[in-house]
Amino acid sequence: MRRETVLNYLTGGAATRWDLVVIGGGATGLGCAVDAAARGLRVLLLEAHDFAKGTSSRSTKLVHGGVRYLKQGNISLVIEALHERGRLCRNANHLVRHLSFIVPSYHWWEGPFYGIGLKMYDQLAGKLGLKPSRWLGRDETLRHLPNLETDGLLGGVEYYDGQFDDARLAISLMQTIFDHDGLALNYCPVVELVKENGIVAGVRGRCAETGVEFTSHAKAVINATGVFCDAVRKLDEPAAPAMVAPSQGVHLVVPREFLPGASAVMIPHTDDGRVLFAVPWHDRVILGTTDTPVPQAELEPRALPEEIGFIFHNAERYLARQPGPGDVLSVYAGLRPLVRAPSGDGHNTAALSRDHTIVVSPSGLLTITGGKWTTYRRMAQDAVEHAMQVAGLEHRACVTETLPVHGALPEAPAIEGEQGWNVYGSDTPAVAALAAGESALKEKLHPTLPFVAAEVVWAARNEMARTVEDVLARRTRALLLGARASVDCAPKVAALLARELGRDAAWQKKQIAEYTELAKGYVLPK
Ligand SMILES: Cc1cc2nc3c(=O)[nH]c(=O)nc-3n(C[C@H](O)[C@H](O)[C@H](O)COP(=O)(O)OP(=O)(O)OC[C@H]3O[C@@H](n4cnc5c(N)ncnc54)[C@H](O)[C@@H]3O)c2cc1C
Repeated sequence: MRRETVLNYLTGGAATRWDLVVIGGGATGLGCAVDAAARGLRVLLLEAHDFAKGTSSRSTKLVHGGVRYLKQGNISLVIEALHERGRLCRNANHLVRHLSFIVPSYHWWEGPFYGIGLKMYDQLAGKLGLKPSRWLGRDETLRHLPNLETDGLLGGVEYYDGQFDDARLAISLMQTIFDHDGLALNYCPVVELVKENGIVAGVRGRCAETGVEFTSHAKAVINATGVFCDAVRKLDEPAAPAMVAPSQGVHLVVPREFLPGASAVMIPHTDDGRVLFAVPWHDRVILGTTDTPVPQAELEPRALPEEIGFIFHNAERYLARQPGPGDVLSVYAGLRPLVRAPSGDGHNTAALSRDHTIVVSPSGLLTITGGKWTTYRRMAQDAVEHAMQVAGLEHRACVTETLPVHGALPEAPAIEGEQGWNVYGSDTPAVAALAAGESALKEKLHPTLPFVAAEVVWAARNEMARTVEDVLARRTRALLLGARASVDCAPKVAALLARELGRDAAWQKKQIAEYTELAKGYVLPK
């Protein structure tokens, strides 16, 4: 799994013809590569930056059917997502937990209205359902959510959904690709599509660290680059029309004291008819999100003041003790790759499809986009089925419905409520052994963050971490749990990484400066 080994293999002139090359290492691309590798196909995945650097590390962290889509009457989307929720709880049991959500009720009609809707949600999950929803009286609602606004509170409806650590799941999927003899490489953008007789027959990749370029031939190429998919489509056909309308969603992370107790809050109808969540996550609380059309895809999108105002305003209406700007530990934004309606102008993104779309160009480039993290497995199954047809490959059955993701624990019960996370799953003893082997590696990176130095070394050796940002943003979640605190960790992380990757003092200095600059974008100005 060492990056150098993979790169040497790719640049060393080995005459490999892959069955499939996947462009993009977010949820969709990683899912496609896992699906293909597990079917026994020869697959290579190339990611331009780090795995999950794009939207896939910036979600609300819910594994859900989407109560909101139920309200919109999109029943088939909800059923599919609920089934995928059940499968993911089982196949990645180290990274997904069952979480209680409460819809607070302040009007007489809300209890029966949401109660009936959520009973339907339970039913649609079928055999893969979690605990059933139920009505809670006022006192019980407050026992679950002690900081809920009491004025006018009648009670609440409790239902269950899944919650996960998105970037950690991405890393586990990347490891699963290797477990099934596929290859994946980060910091390696695809800069050109290789064609034979007008048909896509491979890609040209460029190592972002060394500038070395190489060609990888393939029978089929999947473009799974999320909000960036139109740029890759233009490598194929310069005149290809835009397929995606990016929609920004923002989250604020605040201390746990603003949502003590084991439940999350789901506000089904904000001022302007959206859904807002307050969700406990890694001993913090995530508040969000928004749905703002943006003109173009950015790698580091930034929250707009009105989005931050919207979240504060709506949280204030439901929380007795309200967070202010000084309480915000981190603010992060992500871009939804919503598929444009054929005549859409991208202005009303809330109305665009949340389903996934597959398009095959005349030259055979397969683009898959849309969907959500929860349904990544199903999206991958569809994309690989199409790709096998495009490539004229002999059909092989999909096996991911029951395939454990790297780190999943055999027969482990679902993580529930207040139980801690187990992000390394079956690798936990190995990470602990690393810490036990050197006393400096047992040290915490920061007094307010739960991470220890051994995790940095583990990330460099086993998770293809290359930069301080890789470690603080996606191998650990320090950037989201405390942006300022994470900056304090940067020198320690840079030194540990330099030791592992053979880098010098100048590299460390540059890494610290780059990370400090990046983290500024996650700090809310006072
Ligand atoms: C605010 C928000 C909240 C969300 N919350 C949830 C949630 O709670 N639950 C849920 O199920 N879903 C949620 N989603 C949806 C989910 O996060 C996305 O659907 C999913 O992450 C998209 O993954 P992706 O792989 O398609 O795109 P991305 O994660 O963006 O991955 C695309 C990758 O392609 C790479 N790339 C681009 N160009 C190239 C190139 N030339 N060569 C190689 N690589 C390239 C990029 O670097 C990037 O890493 C949310 C989305 C948003 C925006």
